[in-house]
Order: sequence, then C-alpha cells, then structure tokens
Amino acid sequence: MLKLENIEGVGPKTASLLNKLNIYNQQDLLHYYPYRYDVLKRSNLSELVDGDRIVIDGKLEGQPTIIYLGPKLKKLIFRINSKKNILNVTLYNRPYLYNELKCGRDVTVIGKYDKIKNTIIASEIRFELLPPNPKIEPIYHLTAGLSNKQLSKFINTVIYGEFDDTSYIPDYLNEKYNFMKKRQAIFQVHAPSDILSLKKARQVLKYEELFVYLLRMSYLKRHINQDINAIKRDIDKIKIEKFIKKLPFELTPDQQVAVNEIIEDLTSNKRMNRLLQGDVGSGKTIVAFIASYANYLAKYQTALMVPTEILANQHYEEAQRLFAKEKINIALLTSSTKAKEKKEIYEKLESGEIDLIIGTQSLIQEKIKFNNLGLVITDEQHRFGVNQRNNFKNKGISPDMLSMSATPIPRTYALTIYGDLDISSIKTKPIGRKEVITYFKKEKDIMEVLEMMKQELEQKHQIYVVAPMIEDNDDSDVENVQALEEKMTKAFGKVYKIASVHGKLDTKEKNMTMKNFEAGKIDILISTTVIEVGVNVKNASMIVIFNANLFGLSTLHQLRGRVGRSDIQSYCILISKQVQERLRFLETTSDGFEISEYDFENRGEGDLFGIRQSGETGLIMSNTRKDYKMMLKAKDDVEEFMDKLSNNDNSNYSHILSMLNNTQNLD
Ligand code: ADP
Ligand code: MG
Repeated sequence: MLKLENIEGVGPKTASLLNKLNIYNQQDLLHYYPYRYDVLKRSNLSELVDGDRIVIDGKLEGQPTIIYLGPKLKKLIFRINSKKNILNVTLYNRPYLYNELKCGRDVTVIGKYDKIKNTIIASEIRFELLPPNPKIEPIYHLTAGLSNKQLSKFINTVIYGEFDDTSYIPDYLNEKYNFMKKRQAIFQVHAPSDILSLKKARQVLKYEELFVYLLRMSYLKRHINQDINAIKRDIDKIKIEKFIKKLPFELTPDQQVAVNEIIEDLTSNKRMNRLLQGDVGSGKTIVAFIASYANYLAKYQTALMVPTEILANQHYEEAQRLFAKEKINIALLTSSTKAKEKKEIYEKLESGEIDLIIGTQSLIQEKIKFNNLGLVITDEQHRFGVNQRNNFKNKGISPDMLSMSATPIPRTYALTIYGDLDISSIKTKPIGRKEVITYFKKEKDIMEVLEMMKQELEQKHQIYVVAPMIEDNDDSDVENVQALEEKMTKAFGKVYKIASVHGKLDTKEKNMTMKNFEAGKIDILISTTVIEVGVNVKNASMIVIFNANLFGLSTLHQLRGRVGRSDIQSYCILISKQVQERLRFLETTSDGFEISEYDFENRGEGDLFGIRQSGETGLIMSNTRKDYKMMLKAKDDVEEFMDKLSNNDNSNYSHILSMLNNTQNLD
C-alpha cells in the first residue's frame, strides 16, 4: 500500500490527522468518498430572495475598507461588478485578505444574500472566476485541523496518479450494465465532470460493493457447508423428546420446528451456521438449551456467549434448574469470576470436564482451550460481529454455530444480508401471553403516568423505568437515572422500594440490585438501557421509558419485551416531549417483524443495520436499504456467477477468486 507521506504536502502531522479519519494509506484515500456535493453555479440575481445562498463572480471595484467593530471583530467591505451589477460584499474577521483584494481582480464570492441592502455576507472568497459550466465540488467529512480543500487536494494527487483500479465485477456484468471503468468511476466520484457521470460512477461503485459483499457471503456459505472438520453426531432423539416432554410447558410449533432444524444440522455432516431469530419473549433460550443438550448427549462441549453479565447469570441459573436431573457439568465465566476459579474452569474446559460454559463473550474467547467444543451459541447476536468466533483452541474440529437475535428482520432482507446463514424464525409467542399494551404520553402528562404506575404497584407488580443517561449533564432536556431516582422516591419512596442500575456501577452492585429486583425486594428499578437485553422478571408488568424519541424502534421494542413475560397484563409507556409518528406506531403493534418492516421502510437501515457491523460488510457507499433494488439484482448476479465458477469456467476470474480465498479468513 502506498504511504500517505508520499503525497506532496502530507507530513507526519497531516498523516496522523488522516489516520483519525481511518485513512492509513493511499488506497484508503481513494475510498474515502464525499458524503455530499456542492454545485457551484452562478446565481441568477433576479431569482434570489432575501437570505438565499449566493454564488457570484466578477471584478473588484475600488479598494476594500476595513472597519473595526471591536477589539477582535473586524470587517472588510468592498464592491464587485458582476456583469454590470454592482454588489456590496461584507467579510467578517479576515482582515488579512486586505492585501489580496486589489482593484480589478477576479473574484468569486459565496455567501448569503441580503437583498434589501444588495449585500453579500461572504463565507468564502476565491480569487478566480466561475468555470463556464456548473462545478460540482465534493464535500468530505473532516476532522479538526484538516480542511476540505486540503483533503480534496490530497485525493486529487492520488487519482491523477497511478492507483489500484482492479474491479471485482466480472467483465460480462460490466458489459451487461454498461458500467464505466472502475478507474473512471473513482475519478468521477472525487472530481465529477458533470452530474450524469457522477451518478453513473456512484452506480458502479455501489454495485461493486454489493456484488462483492454478497459474493463473499455466498462463498462463505459454500465453504462452511464443505468444511471437512464439521462434526457429524449420533444423537439419541428419544432422550431429547423425553427431555422436552418434561419441560413445564409445551413448545410452540415454531420452537419445535427450530429444534428440528437444529438437530438435523447437528446430525448431518454439514457444519451448522444458523441464525435463530424471534421476537423478545418468543422463547429462544429453551431452544438453545435443547441444542446444548443434544450436543451434550453426543459428548461434545457447548459454549453459550451472551453480551452482558446480568444475562450470563440469568442463563446460568436457568440452565441449572433445567438440567437439575442431568449430569451436565455447567460453569459460569464472567468478569466477576475469581482468578482462582477461572483457572480451574480453564483446566476443566481443557480436560473436557465441563460440558456447558456460559459467559460473556470476551471471556469465553480469551485463548481458552477446549477439549472438544462442538457447539457455540451466541445470544443477542446482533450485539457483536458474526465472525469473531474461531478464536477457540479446539481439537481439530469445527464447532457448529447458532446465533440468536431478537431483532427480527424481513425475510427477503435477511436472506440478503445474512446470505451466509441458515435461518430459523420463531414467529408466534407462547400461548397465554397477553399483549403488552403500549401508551404514548407527552412529558407534560407525567401525572397520568404516575397514576398508572401507582395502580400497578398497588397490585404488587414491579416497574422498570428507563432513562437515556446516567447523570445530569448540560442537556437539561434529557432525563437521567439520578434525577429520576429522586423524582420516583418523592412520588413513591414512602411505601415502595426504589433502586437503580446502570453501566457505571460495579458488577457486584449491579448483580445485587438485579437479584433483589428478581426476588421482588425492589418495586421500581430505574436504569439505562442495560436492561435491554434478555432480562427476565415475570412479575414486572410495566416499563416507563423517558425520552423515548431518542431510541430506535427496535431498541424500544426490545425494552418493551422486558414486560409481558407471564400472564399478567403488562404496559409500556413511552414518554417524549413531542408526538412522534413512529412512537404512535408502537402503540399499534407488538409484532417485531412488522416493526422492523416499518423501520426498514421509514428510517433507512437504522437499528437494523446494527445487526451486521459495517466494517465487516465493506459497504461504504452503498446502503442495503436505499440500494435494496440494486442489491436484489446483485444477488441474482452472484448466484449466476457462482454457477459459472462451479462449472470451472473461471480462468478469467482469478483475481476474484483470490479475493474470495482471503474471505475464508473471516470465518
Ligand atoms: P427470548 O426469545 O426473548 O430469549 P426467552 O427464551 O427468555 O425469550 O423466553 C421468555 C419466557 O418464556 C421464559 O420465561 C420462558 O421460560 C418462557 N417460555 C419459553 N417457551 C415457552 C413455551 N413454549 N410456553 C410457555 N412459556 C415459554
Ligand atoms: Mg433471550
């Protein structure tokens, strides 16, 4: 990769500024695309109204005057003659330009037009006339100390020189779509000659990103399917049926289907790479435990990774209850596990004594040696990347992977962004669940909310209260945990017990509070979104969310999933200053798939895209939602191309193949 310092004008200092933008070499510069463009086109004076942006060029008339407005405030005033129109220009705080502003000089002035005074309040002065055709200027995201002009200049140096313009679109597709050459496309994106070429350039680059992404997915899937180290198990299905029969409830049909699909994967010689998606409360955990049980019966170890310690504890306790009568050896590994105990756990994982390890993902991934890890389950998978899995040292076998996500996504969409995964969906919730009733309330109606809370408390139910922040900062419009704790104590403190949890507490305190809440010793629990994932307290019947407008729909839906976990009628109250259409929408549905569809249509990828981290997708210019139609096209093209590859028709594509081979390392 060519170094940044080889570019004229880039020294160590500028290089480190560029690093801040994640630009480390010349290749990165090429792919640092503008986020928007300015069109510099001469304004038509007669069309402008007062206050409009104006771009105009002409010749300076006379000499500018400096006016002192205060010790630090100076302004320059001068006049320009633009095609016989005389305009006044005011320029604040740039007295150093005085010497450049010579009578008769060509200038372009960009600024705000004060029509009444026939004056331009200039934001920018350039010492040249406008080009005859409208000029399109790329605008980049910047960092302090680096100007758009500088960055443009560096990028221009690169695009006018030699650069790697390898295209990963096969030639026949380039022809099919009549795409411009990659080199030209990169050039046009940074230095557009006209709008049409810019559009075409963006098309090619977007298409390439999507094509490559989908191709990698498709390739990965084939690679996983053909893994020769995959485990083929003999599983005693009768034992599993018996285990399921003894559960305190019957599996829902969707749960049963998911279990069957997983068992099928585990017994086949194909490596499992499956996503189990289902709304909050749909009962994914039990499916995961049944899978662990099947894996245990076949004498392999299971690792269950979760995003938070609270959740790890909860799953651990649940597993102990569930497997009380089995000989499964279960261990819990979190940051609170004592060093000595940790060491013991590591030893037992290596010797194979532990059958099921439950813990936070970072801990489980730490250089641990397993004896024969057969199954890795990640809960709330959208919280971390998909491909950070094979850090495990294992006995020459590739474990099966099960990822669980409570962010349901529309099926066609799932098929594209999760092209490397098989998908099981749990769509219906266990019977007997009452739907959570959701109300939207304006902040000024807080008394009504307190009244509703009181009614729940009187029935001995518990309540979650959520605030976006932990403590007060300057933003007085946003509620915080501390302040809410005080308010709640004022309102209910005489009769009810109130406590709070948030990310700043140490784990011990947090766990204590959660335990007490679970045990019913706390009536109102105030928190940030740390309770968002997975927490299961059946007696909690109300969740009150302040500043709901600051959260994404799927986060709100997740939070709402904390209640309605038993047959008690539960409520979710969304509070915000202003009415928001999307918050009103949550009043009308509790179907996660519908919500994600709504999000998908109205907000862009929003939270949705959080499920797959952008670094992993390589999508810079394209957007899986806005370019969804293009993505579907690319998907078809990928399938056709994969067929070509498997027909050994691949001599022309060696560079694409070698790119794909590098993809394997992802896995
Ligand atoms: P999630 O899918 O959000 O992880 P959980 O697995 O935590 O949901 O399940 C929520 C609750 O539903 C748990 O208390 C669990 O025991 C219960 N549950 C799961 N499956 C069923 C079922 N088939 N019938 C009744 N209750 C169930
Ligand atoms: Mg869960």
